Amino acid sequence: MTDQFNPYEMAKEQLSDAVKALSLDERAYSILKNPMRVMEVSIPVLMDDGRVETFIGYRSQHTDVMGPTKGGVRFHPNVTLDEVKALSMWMTFKTQVMGLPYGGAKGGVIVDPKSLSEREREELSREYIRSLMSIIGPDKDIPAPDVNTDPKLMGLMYDEYDRIRGFNVPGFITGKPLILGGSLGRLEATGRGVVLTIREAVKRQGLKMEGLKVSIQGFGNVGKYTAKILDELGAKVVAVSDSKGAIYKDTGLPIPKLLQFVDEGNRVSDFSEAEHMEPMKVFEIGCDVVVPAALENQISGEVAKKIKAKIVAEAANGPTTREGDQVLYEKGVVIIPDILCNAGGVTVSYFEWVQNKMGYYWKEEEVNQKLEEKMVHSFDNVYRMFELHDVHMRTAAYMVSVGRVCEALCARGWIKDWSMPIECKD
Ligand code: NAD
Repeated sequence: MTDQFNPYEMAKEQLSDAVKALSLDERAYSILKNPMRVMEVSIPVLMDDGRVETFIGYRSQHTDVMGPTKGGVRFHPNVTLDEVKALSMWMTFKTQVMGLPYGGAKGGVIVDPKSLSEREREELSREYIRSLMSIIGPDKDIPAPDVNTDPKLMGLMYDEYDRIRGFNVPGFITGKPLILGGSLGRLEATGRGVVLTIREAVKRQGLKMEGLKVSIQGFGNVGKYTAKILDELGAKVVAVSDSKGAIYKDTGLPIPKLLQFVDEGNRVSDFSEAEHMEPMKVFEIGCDVVVPAALENQISGEVAKKIKAKIVAEAANGPTTREGDQVLYEKGVVIIPDILCNAGGVTVSYFEWVQNKMGYYWKEEEVNQKLEEKMVHSFDNVYRMFELHDVHMRTAAYMVSVGRVCEALCARGWIKDWSMPIECKD
């Protein structure tokens, strides 16, 4: 992997940009450029055919200066240590752009979960938790779902943690099934947050949600709910893709039908009421907003040159390379950076953790209303920074979040006197 496509190198460069823009003490960069703790585990699984296969897993905890660390667990064949480290760092900046009392973490296992049976997947999930017991917990590090992991697996991981501890600890993990203390609104929270940030960006561009043309890469948890909520608000989702193919309809795809089709176990590319195209074409078609909602490094410099949209809403983590970023910035495309755009998930995870700790549960409208308040407030903070300093939206988001972490580092005596510029304060 070249440095340009190494997400950890990219995350460090983004951090460095913010440290420079805030004229911060060099020590801040030295402290934050490495995760505070990384664990590599070897996970033996008894396969259905009697063999034992060993999978490699990681957990990276970036910093706990703001509170316990928090972040999802990813099951994917391309997981690498550097990817997990970068994702944990982005989680710190995501929780801080939202003003949540957490630092960042991320976990991953190198596996193609589709190649495992249900029993093998369960054993892998339980063993992953067993191997991390000493560093996770409701006040230490709180896992959640990510790519290829879902509420069902969170329920199994929760059960494993409780069995070892000997009592119920619902605040240990978020994204759980509702019956085990999950929060109403969590499943669609990331997509809802993506749409709220698009709505705020659209207002500033003098556009309207009604009739807004949107193209989405990826139709998993985030892509699907983003499409559903956009459709409910009157936007036209004109293209979507999954890893096998893409579909397009200029007048807008029939999203409720497509959701039902995919929920029945079909692929996007088999949907008949649309034109078919190559997956990467979702970035090239004429539309107002492009939403990468799949994996990292999708918008390279070359891809960025072909984007016609005015807004790129980064629903995925790290979807734009440094070169892609520069091309979009020069073209005047507004990027809603990942740490802000997809922060709805961790925000409702935080609400879930708070409800678990209180043992008192909120109605869905209350969750959605609290999410909207947080997303709009955080978008306003970042946009104010973007306008005042004439920087990239990404740098503006990092200035808000890195500024907060550094204020905490300073209050703890780790870096010398520094206080948040007045315009970064709430
Ligand atoms: P998911 O596993 O539910 O869905 C991923 C989707 O991307 C699938 O539709 C898959 O087919 C598609 N995909 C994979 N490779 C592709 C390719 N090359 N081209 C087109 N489509 C491709 O995952 P998810 O939970 O929706 O997460 C998507 C992204 O959002 C990830 O970057 C994740 O880290 C980020 N994210 C997720 C959450 C969450 O709450 N789930 C929160 C914040 C950020």
